[in-house]
Amino acid sequence: MIRIMHKVMQHAGKYKTRIRCSYISALIKGIMMKMPMFMCLYAISLFMEGKMDEKKCLFIGLAVLTGVILQAVFEHVTNVLQSAAGYMVFSDMRLKLGEHLRKLPMGYFTEGNMGKISTVLATDMVFIEEICMPVLAELVTFLISQGLMVLMMFFLDYRVGILSLVVIGAFILIGHLMMDTTLKHSKLKQKAAETLSDSVIDFAEGMGIIKSYNLLGEKSKSLTKQFEESCDKNIAFEEDYGPWNIAMNMTYGIGTALILALSAFLYLRGSITPVYFVSVVFLLFDLFLAIKAFYGQMARLTVTSASLERIDEVFEEVQLPDEGKEVLPEEDTYVGNEIEYDNVTFGYTDKDILKNVSFEVKKGEMVALVGPSGGGKSTIASLIARLWDVKDGAIKVRGVDIKKVPMSNLMDNISIVFQRVYLFQDTVYNNIAIGRPEATKEEVTEAAKKARCLEFIEKLPEGFDTVIGEGGASLSGGEKQRLSIARCLLKDSPIIILDEATASVDADNEKAIQEAINELVVGKTLIVIAHRIKTIKNANNILVISDGKICEEGTHEELVKLGGIYKSFVDKSA
Ligand code: ADP
Repeated sequence: MIRIMHKVMQHAGKYKTRIRCSYISALIKGIMMKMPMFMCLYAISLFMEGKMDEKKCLFIGLAVLTGVILQAVFEHVTNVLQSAAGYMVFSDMRLKLGEHLRKLPMGYFTEGNMGKISTVLATDMVFIEEICMPVLAELVTFLISQGLMVLMMFFLDYRVGILSLVVIGAFILIGHLMMDTTLKHSKLKQKAAETLSDSVIDFAEGMGIIKSYNLLGEKSKSLTKQFEESCDKNIAFEEDYGPWNIAMNMTYGIGTALILALSAFLYLRGSITPVYFVSVVFLLFDLFLAIKAFYGQMARLTVTSASLERIDEVFEEVQLPDEGKEVLPEEDTYVGNEIEYDNVTFGYTDKDILKNVSFEVKKGEMVALVGPSGGGKSTIASLIARLWDVKDGAIKVRGVDIKKVPMSNLMDNISIVFQRVYLFQDTVYNNIAIGRPEATKEEVTEAAKKARCLEFIEKLPEGFDTVIGEGGASLSGGEKQRLSIARCLLKDSPIIILDEATASVDADNEKAIQEAINELVVGKTLIVIAHRIKTIKNANNILVISDGKICEEGTHEELVKLGGIYKSFVDKSA
């Protein structure tokens, strides 16, 4: 519990004092809770000894009333302080996490971590803010209540006090074993939930493909299996946890019986007075309630450690350093290569994907990357936009190593047209304006026109103000492509990385997309992952990429003459 409190404190930032105050308030509440009981005990002893009078009766009555009122007041204060602090801490933490995720390399988002991110945001943080924070304060109350009860037992008779401590020891032992079981299962349960979350995201995102390839049965079978696994893990937890819960209840029963037996024995031997015996019996049924409730709540909290660990794991992911201070030289004044790949080696994992790749792109040139699938074309293109950092060598834009350039400056200079277009659930206008938020309405309209979007936008129910469905569901693939090109046209950055669409669109759409691209690339430095011979032929330089290396390099004519991989590719496409 202390560890969890400490960890929560580490994340609490500016709300530390507030949380500490809530613990103090919970502590006072715990003391106040016991006040009526101790006063009743006092009253019983006075009656039995025949010492009760009106003044004492009034005092006891007032003390009970004060205890009840203060308990309510401190309960309210604790709730307000603790619950609000939970929401505040996690609202800040979500913003911090968003900022952190923004700075992670792209690889993090494609390595099956989407499930983890959604679990951290949707389950872990919600669990801690809604359940853990209020429960922590409650635990403080339980602890203080339990402490007071044991102290009272010592006050009545030291032997009864010692036996109470022994029973508490048994509770602690069983409680720890119970928590170990919960912790072990919570990790497995959480892993299953993450995998399930990943699969559901995958299933939903890939619905189009799943349906078109008739994989619905197969994919939903694997998803059903994941659901079953998650269900099995939950049942296994209940099966393992159940016996500990029973043991806890038994300790409570046996402990209470032992205290009763001991005090009866002491009373019969005349070691304690009748008043003390009645007092023990009076307190007995409340004696171990607090520690029992404590472990009942602790079991819920063991998940907190795992949740906090997972939150830490996401925060510990190494960000792409963005400490560069060198601003790229203006493209109009710079003489030299626009892009330079200087002996670059890179791998997503320990395995190198690109090996000592070097090439140059002059300003205004178009370079086509061609070659077999999996050869490394997309990797080469993404590294220029610094979606990942190279392992060895350097990538330079206008002579400056991109690691030394502020990310925002680099991004101002580069636009990427991905094959897979992502549109935000926002208006058509805003989806284009993202390219350059400060653009005027005329500029946005002009970009839409150049990207051959105007015609279909005007047909939409509310034109530019039409909200696109999540993921751009209400537009055709070709229309989405053109919208993303309009975005880039508006951004008007000097370098463009283009992943040519492989999916076949109808002839009209293809023509419109080609026209949009033609508008986009005028006067730009262009790197195209090319699939169409027509595009490739126009390139100033063609790099044939296979197995992470440049195997052939030259113009279309030169490479055809060479009679290598490129030639056979051209022959196949003919
Ligand atoms: P191409 O664009 O030529 O088809 P890629 O650059 O996409 O090739 O892929 C090159 C190699 O890198 C392949 O073996 C691919 O499996 C691997 N790869 C691509 N992206 C990732 C990634 N995000 N994580 C791990 N490996 C990847």
